Amino acid sequence: MLNEVEVFSLVFILVSLFALIALYKRKRFKQITSQPLSDEYKQLLFARLPIYKQLSPQLKADLEHKIVCFLHTKQFIGCDLTITDEIKVTIAAEACLLIINRSSSCYAQLKWIYVYPSVFIAKQAQRNEYGIVSTKHRHLLGESWANGKVILAWDSVESGMANFHDGQNVVLHEFAHQLDQENGNANGAPLLYTKDGYRIWSQVFSEEFKALQQSLAEHKTSLIDRYGATNPAEFFAVVTELFFECPEQLAQQHAELFGLLQNYYRLDPRSWTGIE
Ligand SMILES: [Zn+2]
Repeated sequence: MLNEVEVFSLVFILVSLFALIALYKRKRFKQITSQPLSDEYKQLLFARLPIYKQLSPQLKADLEHKIVCFLHTKQFIGCDLTITDEIKVTIAAEACLLIINRSSSCYAQLKWIYVYPSVFIAKQAQRNEYGIVSTKHRHLLGESWANGKVILAWDSVESGMANFHDGQNVVLHEFAHQLDQENGNANGAPLLYTKDGYRIWSQVFSEEFKALQQSLAEHKTSLIDRYGATNPAEFFAVVTELFFECPEQLAQQHAELFGLLQNYYRLDPRSWTGIE
């Protein structure tokens, strides 16, 4: 039986040990994530991601730092596909474009990125009006989960990378959902920190969402893809794709929406698009 002094000493040793381990892990993480992105990875980005060479030197350096952090903290899992450096670094780069100027951690809740060669089939339980649950199969290019997973079809990632000016990019789309999910379920309003921020966001996004639904009902064309009218979460993901890929048009046609996205992402992609 331990006496009081021995119990106290034991607790002290254990607490000190945990503190030391935590300190070591933090130091190690800082060491690893302060390493520069390898030249080989930079070459891959130059070759495969046209937008990379258009970034300012400062943005490029910030992006590279985020990529190193992303690659260190996430696991890539190939589904009928061998994960290569090219797959890892290009997905990481596009995902990190969204957080290049955000001080928040590098998708802290995300742990795994599953990559399929092409469109994959997702099973989804659905309940009808009589309460009977059945399984629905959906063909998807990408999917984002709140439990630490993103799923992507590699051929869609590749086509999104090759054309960075058509407003269609599955990586930007799914990682916008990840940001949206930071404060719980995706609802179209990511973490904004202030009451006023949420009020203005909700007002502008609701108006734009309804306007998109209205224009679809009237068979009018819109810069914003019709998929954005599915629900507010999809609307946020779809306008994020436009913000990065077609910023001039979005700013001209939806100035308030563009302004809110510009504040949120702390970026103006108009400065690095339009070439190529
Ligand atoms: Zn979506």
